[in-house]
Amino acid sequence: MKVADMHCDTISEILYSKKKGEDIRTLRKNDLNIDLEKMQKGDYLVQNFALFVNLGKRERPFEWCMELADTYYEELEKNQDLIKPAFTYEDILNNQKEGKMSAVLTIEEGGVLLGNPAFLRDFYRLGVRMLTVTWNYQNELGWPNALTPGGERTKPGVPNTESGLTPLGIEMIQEMERLGMVIDVSHLSDAGFYDVVKYTKKPFVASHSDARAICPHIRNLTDDMIRRLAEHGGVMGMNYCPEFLDPDYMTKERAVGTIDQIVQHILHIGKVGGYGCIGLGSDFDGISPHRDLKDASFMPMLEDALWKAGLGQEEIEGIFYKNVLNLYKEVWK
Ligand SMILES: [Zn+2]
Repeated sequence: MKVADMHCDTISEILYSKKKGEDIRTLRKNDLNIDLEKMQKGDYLVQNFALFVNLGKRERPFEWCMELADTYYEELEKNQDLIKPAFTYEDILNNQKEGKMSAVLTIEEGGVLLGNPAFLRDFYRLGVRMLTVTWNYQNELGWPNALTPGGERTKPGVPNTESGLTPLGIEMIQEMERLGMVIDVSHLSDAGFYDVVKYTKKPFVASHSDARAICPHIRNLTDDMIRRLAEHGGVMGMNYCPEFLDPDYMTKERAVGTIDQIVQHILHIGKVGGYGCIGLGSDFDGISPHRDLKDASFMPMLEDALWKAGLGQEEIEGIFYKNVLNLYKEVWK
């Protein structure tokens, strides 16, 4: 079964190791969750590669983001025999015809725009086709669920329902819609989620978030949010992070990630928003290890589990890649 994965942090890991002077972590083969060989074994069609910027650690977020973008393109250039960048829906189909996988460039942290719509357009020209409005810090565009309106860390299980997008954030997501860049609400506050619903018309994504009714982590979506996302034509990518999957994560020293938990999240979301709003967003190379899905090559295990859970061909294909591809077709230009 083909795979379209909306989120991973592999490019950051490759750049970190380059900075340390190591040369062992290439995109082609490495000790991470994702490399091109593992993706081939897992039958991948599309992988989004996020340029992730931690505002708490980077004084110059724009420059770090540009370094990450360079790492992304340098790695793709060295591996043109296996993978090519996709900027349009047709690119994905053409790459597939050539027997190649597709890479999609995304940004995880709207703060890299420095509050300037000109930089949003420049990133689009650089090939960015999805942007996560916030990570776990407040930025020029809005607030994350990780912080209270006053800037304190939120308590486990308590979302930020008060401070959402700023006026500039609203302007920016509308510019994203006009450009054909997918808006990503993962990490965004609950209030920000509803602002996106209110101020946009096109489908948007929660690229790597699960169901809060199953696991009460605030990185996950409530049933009402799932319904709104689905009504908007959006897709949420199943995140394999054990803390977002395990219903008992708060009482355990270490949450365990199992295939069965992912299936439980999928069955719940299917009931609430329909199977058309479900995709994959592994968060590979940005999360603690998942017990069953150890890396990209293990994806057929999830397919088998979904067959056993009683889902049909159409539903499984939708979850694995078609729902995401349809959204790209609708939003990208
Ligand atoms: Zn993330």
